Amino acid sequence: MMRKNKMLRKYVPSVLLFLLFEAVAVALWIAKDNMFYLLNFSYIGGCLALGTVLFTAGKCYARHFVQLAVGSYMLLYLGIISRENMQIEGFWYYLFLGVFEAATIHYSVAKIFGPLVFGRGWCGYACWTAMVLDFLPYKQPKKARKEKLGILRYVMFALSLTVVSCLFLMKIAHLEEIMFRMFLAGNAVYYIAGIVLAFVLKDNRAFCKYLCPVTVFLKPMSYFSLLRIHCDENKCVHCGKCLQVCPMNVEVNQESRKRKNGTECILCYECTKACPTKALH
Ligand code: SF4
Ligand code: SF4
Ligand code: SF4
Repeated sequence: MMRKNKMLRKYVPSVLLFLLFEAVAVALWIAKDNMFYLLNFSYIGGCLALGTVLFTAGKCYARHFVQLAVGSYMLLYLGIISRENMQIEGFWYYLFLGVFEAATIHYSVAKIFGPLVFGRGWCGYACWTAMVLDFLPYKQPKKARKEKLGILRYVMFALSLTVVSCLFLMKIAHLEEIMFRMFLAGNAVYYIAGIVLAFVLKDNRAFCKYLCPVTVFLKPMSYFSLLRIHCDENKCVHCGKCLQVCPMNVEVNQESRKRKNGTECILCYECTKACPTKALH
């Protein structure tokens, strides 16, 4: 009986995660009087909860399952079928319109305020760009990180803001249609750039490390994340296995939030699986 209770307790975080998303779903459903929010956040919360159940049960495909279930839903249903620009340009667009819908809600929950709780969980479990990049051959970077290239993310960020600002200032007609086409073109460019960079730098996540403009929001917010990988430095034997398997070059064998590349952690838990002394949790 005690063993059964202990087993069940392992799944409590999955239930809590689902309830957290349900709270957001119900709150937005009532506030916006729109059933879509109930269905949308229930689906995403359900996928994440199921993914964590699979992870807890030791299934190696758990993270890919969530990435594909959430990422393809957002890309195909919200982006292509519903014609919502869910990229950063869409965020600026809806922000300038003063509309708290689609991309603005998505950015608030997943990329601006959510990271205070779940860090860069979006990057590990839901991003539709990374859901493809993570299937490329360089899961563990084969070359040293090129820190200076990180400046490119700010260039991309400024570029996206400038383009959308110019469209508004020039009072361009059919802006909705233009934003939809930008979404299609932008995603094609991201996939091509991500795949080329992965092969050139021998690193699946090179796009995330150097080019992705969303990290301008994600990195500072995730510094304060409630959910993070902890290291019991007393148990660490400095074997370096965690550093080898980390796709994001996080110095995870340090407990401090100031650990090198600490704001890059995507909570994939590869390091915790690799650690021979269970120093990481
Ligand atoms: S860094 Fe950007 S591209 Fe990479 S997973 Fe995060 S949001 Fe997606
Ligand atoms: S391997 Fe560990 S430190 Fe690196 S991204 Fe995954 S969870 Fe974070
Ligand atoms: S894998 Fe574990 S023991 Fe080895 S360096 Fe990392 S934290 Fe320390």
